[in-house]
Amino acid sequence: MKTILDQFKLDGKIALVTGAARGLGQAISLAMAEAGADVALVDLLSTDETKRKIEEIGRKAIGIHADLSSISCIPVIVATTIKAFGKIDILVNNAGIIRRAPLTEFSEKDWDDVINLNQKAVFFLSQAVARTMIERKQGGKIVNIASLLSFQGGILVPSYTASKSAVMGLTRALANELAPHGITVNAIAPGYMATDNTAPLRSDAKRSQAILERIPAGRWGTPDDLKGVAVFLASAASDYMNGYTIAVDGGWLAR
Ligand code: NAD
Repeated sequence: MKTILDQFKLDGKIALVTGAARGLGQAISLAMAEAGADVALVDLLSTDETKRKIEEIGRKAIGIHADLSSISCIPVIVATTIKAFGKIDILVNNAGIIRRAPLTEFSEKDWDDVINLNQKAVFFLSQAVARTMIERKQGGKIVNIASLLSFQGGILVPSYTASKSAVMGLTRALANELAPHGITVNAIAPGYMATDNTAPLRSDAKRSQAILERIPAGRWGTPDDLKGVAVFLASAASDYMNGYTIAVDGGWLAR
């Protein structure tokens, strides 16, 4: 008899994860593999470490070197994954950057770089993968990585806030259109997680203390803290959930 735990299994599934070389994307890639999936790892940097760790788990992985700041690489990413694995069941739009500067000094480049990767690439990669899912008629799962700044304004990061608010909106928009095809689109909003992305915040003693004092859990999150929710949203266990953004933030938004 199948139990609820069986619904979390990803055996036989193929996941495509962007920004998979390190940080949250690496942990999410490992979570997919631990749950049974083979994984296509997309990044600007080498994904060899993630690939090796996935192979140690006994799953397959391929690395795809691509710069998602332009959407011209998207057809190659999709074609390479399908050539290697035959299909894509799960897309995790994780790659993202942040730029910090006061509003009055914020440059057009810092606006465009962040919007192009965090927002435009998320839409067009989802579009390209959704087309293959619709054609296969087997449904699918899209998981976007949002942020607390999908809900809040943040400090010194206007393009990041704009892009991550858009990710929450796009999650809803895509869910509406893809639901009839058995495709769910949900998002994870990580709290303050200890990765390279937040190294400047953690090395600023004052900001770091102010952030820690506001987190009910009393600690920064770790990449491993996202593994459970990532597998949930990528699996049949979340089939009736669509268009929702879940915060994994040690209670930050509850304050
Ligand atoms: P990170 O900087 O540690 O990792 C990001 C990964 O994306 C890197 O491997 C990097 O090489 C890759 N990447 C960057 N630009 C790329 C490009 N143009 N094309 C392809 N790959 C590219 O960051 P992280 O903390 O792991 O963040 C992952 C996601 O989580 C991002 O979308 C980030 O905005 C989001 N997030 C992070 C936090 C946090 O506290 N760390 C909180 C909320 C949301």
